[in-house]
Amino acid sequence: MPDKFICPLCGDILLRENKSLKCGKGHCFDISSSGYVNLLTKSGKKGHGDDKKMVRARRDFLSKGYYSHLKEELQNVVGGIIKKDCVLLDSGCGEGYYTRGFSDIIKENKESEIYGIDVSKEALRLAAKLCPEVQFAVSSAYCLPFENESLDIITTVFAPMAVSEFQRTLKQKGYFINAIPLEKHLYGLKKAVYKNPYFNKPENTELNGFELVKSAEVKKELTITGTEDIKNLFMMTPYYYKTSAEDQDKLEKLDRLITETEFLILVYRKI
Ligand SMILES: [Zn+2]
Repeated sequence: MPDKFICPLCGDILLRENKSLKCGKGHCFDISSSGYVNLLTKSGKKGHGDDKKMVRARRDFLSKGYYSHLKEELQNVVGGIIKKDCVLLDSGCGEGYYTRGFSDIIKENKESEIYGIDVSKEALRLAAKLCPEVQFAVSSAYCLPFENESLDIITTVFAPMAVSEFQRTLKQKGYFINAIPLEKHLYGLKKAVYKNPYFNKPENTELNGFELVKSAEVKKELTITGTEDIKNLFMMTPYYYKTSAEDQDKLEKLDRLITETEFLILVYRKI
């Protein structure tokens, strides 16, 4: 399989040599036993990404199919724009739940390539297991290890939007697909925890250098059963770390939770 990763230190193409990737100037990056390569340089480091607990909670929750409606809609969107020899990057891919979905759609075309990057090694360890055919690198979205205009599609699902890097690395008329939460996403969960639950703020959907070509809302009421699944969902959210132990305890007592899920999928084209 060809490699598209470039050296984060000098920008040269990286070539596979045994268990590592090397550039012409001799910079060398080891491929981990689970299959991802670490391309995060000191200057690119901004924290270490999601921690083990959060990554595992998300893997356990998503693997039960609670968000399969979002995955299927994302697959439909990608299926609708895919062309021959497509190069797709799932940026901020986490433990690879949606990457798996994208790969299932594009792998029918053998010339296509799929990549995933994330700053969390723990997440990539799980992603590499789930998607052995995908090439994963530890990297920041704000310093992507790809040449200018080398990607056809970039996807982000609840992940950082590095708009200028996406613009640099996408080919002309390449697609950027972004999934974000809508105002009432997980309102039922917030009602169970907070005295004064609030709606998410609506996001500005205009992006410099891109035109919005399609948007689709994906809404579904979920019934989550079992304390563990409820806690895992909560741990996936940014609220978990901002909530007092007392409020967190309220969820420990629940064994059934009904909540809205509301996503917005935005499809942009580079102009
Ligand atoms: Zn180099």
